[in-house]
Amino acid sequence: MTGLDHPIALADRIATVRNSLPDSVRLIAITKQVPVEMMRQAYAAGIRDFGESRVQETAIKQAQLQDLQGVTWHLIGHLQSNKAQQALQCFQWIHSVDSLKLAQRLNRLAEDYARQPDVCLQVKIVPDPSKYGWTVPELMADLEQLSQCHHLKIQGLMTIPPFALETQQILGIFHQTRELANRIREQRLPNLSLPELSMGMSDDYILALAAKSTMIRLGRILFGERTEQV
Ligand SMILES: *Cc1c(COP(=O)(O)O)cnc(C)c1O
Repeated sequence: MTGLDHPIALADRIATVRNSLPDSVRLIAITKQVPVEMMRQAYAAGIRDFGESRVQETAIKQAQLQDLQGVTWHLIGHLQSNKAQQALQCFQWIHSVDSLKLAQRLNRLAEDYARQPDVCLQVKIVPDPSKYGWTVPELMADLEQLSQCHHLKIQGLMTIPPFALETQQILGIFHQTRELANRIREQRLPNLSLPELSMGMSDDYILALAAKSTMIRLGRILFGERTEQV
């Protein structure tokens, strides 16, 4: 983290990014490892969507930020099934639903706790052993059962391209993710119209926007480099 950052510098970066986006694109500020004081500054600069990768870190921050009105919390990191219940309490959005088993577990818990979480299905357009998520054939095979998860609002697809690809390859992955969502929509299964595309991080969000992403997840470009990779 850039510890000595001035609040105006942060507000400027947020404004610059926001002003470069179409109004319809949702900007999620990824605040893993970002201290709550800096999150307050981001809120003051207009941020209302915070994304975190860990349930425990989020619960601690939420206790300290209870006074902030109108915030939506997004989980973007892999969710272990033993944390699913706590995740439902902390997050309205879960972008990282990455298996049928997890979806079905969240669906049962959502029913038990009378929640209606918004979720994205995390897909890998090309094989990538370092990431969670469905491959395309796996996802196609699970659609029927996902469609039965009535207590989840399945809003879209989420993807993270493999590390160190060429620009054109990254762009191709984002376009293919959009085409995959279209193909699934054409099947007209209940709960799978998939209007949202959660794609784009600091290094590739311009490419994601070119492929009509609707939700971008930005950390470093707003808050500076993290000290450790999460
Ligand atoms: C950390 C993270 C981000 C933000 O990445 P930056 O490169 O800091 O913008 C977005 N999405 C996911 C899933 C992440 O883990």
